[in-house]
Amino acid sequence: MTTAPSAAARAFLDGPHRLLIGGEWVDGQGRTIAVENPAREDALTEVRAASLDQLDQAVSAARSALHGDWSRLGGRDRGVILSRFADLLEARADLIGEVMTLDNGSPLASSKMVVRHLAAELFRYYAGWASKIAGDSFQPSLTARPTLDIMVATVREPIGVVGAIVPWNAPPGMIALKMAPALAAGCTVVLKTAELAPLVGDLFAQIWIDAGGPAGAFNLVHGHGEDIGAAMAAHPLIDKIAFTGSTAVGRKIVDAATGNLKKVSLELGGKSPVIVFPDADLDAVIPAAAMACYLSTGQQCMAGSRLFLHADIHDRVAEGVAAFAKTLTVGDGLDPDTVLGPMISARQKARVLDYIAIARAEGATPLLESDVIDGPGHFIGPALLTDVTPGMRIEQEEVFGPVLSVIRFDDEDAVIEAVNGTPYGLSGSVWTRDIARALRVAKRVDSGQVGVNIHAAMSAETPFGGNRQSGWGREFGRDGLDGYLKTKAISINLGPKP
Ligand code: NAD
Repeated sequence: MTTAPSAAARAFLDGPHRLLIGGEWVDGQGRTIAVENPAREDALTEVRAASLDQLDQAVSAARSALHGDWSRLGGRDRGVILSRFADLLEARADLIGEVMTLDNGSPLASSKMVVRHLAAELFRYYAGWASKIAGDSFQPSLTARPTLDIMVATVREPIGVVGAIVPWNAPPGMIALKMAPALAAGCTVVLKTAELAPLVGDLFAQIWIDAGGPAGAFNLVHGHGEDIGAAMAAHPLIDKIAFTGSTAVGRKIVDAATGNLKKVSLELGGKSPVIVFPDADLDAVIPAAAMACYLSTGQQCMAGSRLFLHADIHDRVAEGVAAFAKTLTVGDGLDPDTVLGPMISARQKARVLDYIAIARAEGATPLLESDVIDGPGHFIGPALLTDVTPGMRIEQEEVFGPVLSVIRFDDEDAVIEAVNGTPYGLSGSVWTRDIARALRVAKRVDSGQVGVNIHAAMSAETPFGGNRQSGWGREFGRDGLDGYLKTKAISINLGPKP
């Protein structure tokens, strides 16, 4: 089985990797980013980051387009461009998917699915919204001026220039989640890619040009978080930062944003629960619980990394999940047999192994030991730990790797307390055939979304976001669009009441 890049991917890797500023491709003048293939630990290519001056140029291009070409287009025409963007994403899904796999290790089928079923669907969905943004009008109860006839009209305006900062784990989806609603709302965008997987950003920028997107409405910069990302968060001419990444960096962004009090939306980490009651369809639960955690080798924000099992079915489900996990092939994402790709970096692999060691020291029992596969490639097999109890570090902290903690419970109230006992509140699922229990528990789980007999059911229409330290605001759906709009109320004096 060859895992060499296709000719199209090779040509893309060998081509220049530039920045898109004000509609022009320009060479980055900042630090060099060596881009590694995490499945082979060899160099894919190099990307030059933007300098701080180039970041300023990108922000001013976005400001000019905000008050120029982009604002002159009505919602209908913005929608036409976004719709063309969706078509081009679909047409180029094979290449974009392959580049995502080379860049971050994801299995190729998953990468293509992210392009077709997440990124393209988001562009198509928000293309529809662009022509449907509307305010309201009403007659206020102006009791201080009872003789005047006043009408109020509200208008929904774009928030302004958006700085989008994304992580490496699913770049096409993460970029689309910011770009599509922001542009639909009439905002303009400066995107900073993740230094660990920057390449998909180039392909999106090319599609922007090919879809007829006006110069400056979308700008691409590459760069490291600590300099270019931090400068964006502090930038006085950026009106909103739309961020997806870790909770620790989310905090830094909030601090940096205080200068101009820019708006901030945050999609952060998680420690999501999968809660299984004895009456659940256990044959469905076992593979679903395994994939809820191990999908993307655990490198996904809504990973169901805590499996709460009722004592009556604990052993059967834990053993079933461990047996299922053993069948998951670990390997290079370009190999069609691969289900679990590598960790993104040597550092992340070491971090996962550290967490397993900490859990064991705290009393967890490995029902499935993680295979530590020799390189090249940052490979690691799935791990399943039983005897995990609420409060252990493995139960509280996001690992971002293929480590599933199993927690035994007897009682509904106690399990809810444990489920809500971490700093996170992103996702979760409840598994039972009892509809009343399903809804009762789903209502009590303190997170942005909960599945009943399904985990992480994402769609363009379904709001997604975190409670507590999993984030601020919501993406997807109408809520996602609202995050890029501000309301202005215009009060009109029609004269004395007739
Ligand atoms: P990260 O926080 O390290 O980096 C994310 C982005 O922030 C990168 O582009 C990075 O360059 C930038 N950054 C780093 N320091 C910065 C700073 N000081 N100022 C501004 N930007 C800075 O996260 P990661 O390792 O790329 O991704 C993994 C994390 O992302 C996990 O915690 C995961 O749960 C989270 N995540 C959340 C969601 C969600 O929707 N809630 C989705 C995917 C990933």
